Amino acid sequence: MNYYSTNNKNLKVSFKDAVLKGLAEDGGLFMPESIPELNKNFIQNLNTFSFQEMAFTIAKNFIDDEIEEDQLEKIIYDSINFDAPLVKLDENFFILELFHGPSLAFKDFGARFMARVFSHFNKDNYKELVILVATSGDTGSAVANGFYEAEGIKVVILYPSGKISDIQEKQITTLGKNIIALEIEGTFDDCQHLVKKAFVDTELKTKMNLSSANSINIARLIPQSFYYVNAIKQLGVTNKKIVFSVPSGNFGNLTAGLFAKKMGLNIERFIAAVNRNNVFTEYIETGKLEPRPSVKTLSNAMDVGNPSNFSRILELYENNHDQIKKDIYSKSFNDEQTILAIKEVYKNFNYIIDPHGAVGYLAVKEFAKDYGNEFNIIILETAHPAKFSETIENILGIDIKTPERLKKYQSREKHSIKISNEYDKLKDYLITVE
Ligand SMILES: *Cc1c(COP(=O)(O)O)cnc(C)c1O
Repeated sequence: MNYYSTNNKNLKVSFKDAVLKGLAEDGGLFMPESIPELNKNFIQNLNTFSFQEMAFTIAKNFIDDEIEEDQLEKIIYDSINFDAPLVKLDENFFILELFHGPSLAFKDFGARFMARVFSHFNKDNYKELVILVATSGDTGSAVANGFYEAEGIKVVILYPSGKISDIQEKQITTLGKNIIALEIEGTFDDCQHLVKKAFVDTELKTKMNLSSANSINIARLIPQSFYYVNAIKQLGVTNKKIVFSVPSGNFGNLTAGLFAKKMGLNIERFIAAVNRNNVFTEYIETGKLEPRPSVKTLSNAMDVGNPSNFSRILELYENNHDQIKKDIYSKSFNDEQTILAIKEVYKNFNYIIDPHGAVGYLAVKEFAKDYGNEFNIIILETAHPAKFSETIENILGIDIKTPERLKKYQSREKHSIKISNEYDKLKDYLITVE
């Protein structure tokens, strides 16, 4: 399978190059030349496969023989080593819990898979690989965990100072070893901008072996399609159409869902649930995407003013706005609504939903007003509520139990390097890393 740049269909590279480069030379994102369809027999018999077996089949389709089967199998079993259970809230109404990995967010799927793919491809390289990643919170912790102690790899994480939760900061800044945290005086968009600039800096590229781990990396995206398939397997035989509600920021998660649909899965529609950072909702309404600086919200992992996977969505639909609108419904909500939703879900379903999932829930309610209830609705719960325990405890007036795998960070000491949001400062720093 070849991968092309969203800026230029003729710029094609192998899977390995797409992964190691992260971003194409012309600044575009890599897309598979085609989305490989799953065979009908496989789709009809999902219940006979384990999560890992399905993941292997999907990954194999995207990677062909660029990774030998036994190696790929090992990568899958090492990275997808936790579950993604479908929890029933009500008749035809489900939550897909994606937070059972080490950092308690869905990004563990992508980060763990990508880290192992990187190590695999870099194993014969004498030069250390430096992974540069911007985070609004959860990417950083998932990537830090995913790459921790990975051989031949150093990870530099840029995060906006004071704009992520304490526990997210701890998860990024306390691991040490090959994980370096850069605390940027600026916003998440500044961080993302800095990273993008570094990748097109030819001087930097000749000096070091740079790569990315943001959701722009195709190796992050592919494993995110696994759990959509696994959700449909868990749902089992049904005569109602399936709709996924996806709390979205950079739209990597949703794009992976679109991949799953294109693979042949029977998915009726996606709901792109967003907070006040609503440029995508506007795009659905008007056909125009107008990026804006992000604003801070309770669902902070979705505070994105210029969704990086948007160009991939356009590619999948050949720029056809009507078709995109047919497949993706989108609504935006503010923090007050999010707080009410957390209360409502707790009261009605006795389920503690995090602020990101709560936005997903709100969008489902709007969807039902417009299209009725004759669907199987699956909300992707992208983070464990304990990651936002202070917020949720305030809202619900209950104690949230901290899972053991989160507790261990709290007692550790923060180590970060604070720099301004000027590109030269980042560059100066990176040159010293090597
Ligand atoms: C990253 C993240 C999102 C947004 O996912 P995208 O793929 O960037 O759209 C939503 N919720 C949580 C908890 C996240 O960490």
